[in-house]
Amino acid sequence: MTTFVVATANPDKAVEIGAVLHDCQLPITLVPRDPSLPEVDESGATLEDNARLKAIDVCTRTGHPAIADDTGLEVDALDGAPGVYSARFAGDDASYADNVQLLLEKLHDVPDDRRTARFATVAVARWPDGREIAALGTVDGHILTEPRGTGGFGYDPVFVPDDGDGRTFAEMSREEKDACSHRARAFRTLADGLRAVLEQ
Ligand code: IMP
Repeated sequence: MTTFVVATANPDKAVEIGAVLHDCQLPITLVPRDPSLPEVDESGATLEDNARLKAIDVCTRTGHPAIADDTGLEVDALDGAPGVYSARFAGDDASYADNVQLLLEKLHDVPDDRRTARFATVAVARWPDGREIAALGTVDGHILTEPRGTGGFGYDPVFVPDDGDGRTFAEMSREEKDACSHRARAFRTLADGLRAVLEQ
């Protein structure tokens, strides 16, 4: 069993990552990031840059391999925003609710047929010697005019995936979200790559 440190400081993301990778039955043990570690400055220009920054930081501080991800919501009517700025769309200390409110304000006069969007996640596994594998997962959908549902986190209450039955991610169980989410798709692809590396 190889031990990987999960680099995210976001408990909502850590739960989803742990559940998806557990289902993949890899010969790995996941340990959470030490919460006393300082947060990484997500200064990268892309999701992949930011995922890599988080993974390198954990490898350097712990000496263990790391698993990291970065996610963005890309809204077509906003030319792909908030994208890499999804966590701090409404400011550095913005809550999930602040970000959702700003998104709905910016889209207030955008008609239903132009409210298309997608979530994208880049998942990275990195070893302290610099080896790395990365995987992209996306899900297309659209943004509602008001939040619906109490599950999930972040922008889930206003995002309806095209692959679903019209419910938002926040109206789904975690298992239902995992069946089609950006994060689950990225980590299932990453798991295929990890399995190949670990079996070498
Ligand atoms: P991060 O940079 O990967 O931590 O994610 C940036 C922001 O995107 C988070 O703070 C959330 O607001 C949002 N986000 C990330 N993943 C999800 C998701 O699965 N559903 C809804 N919002 C998400």
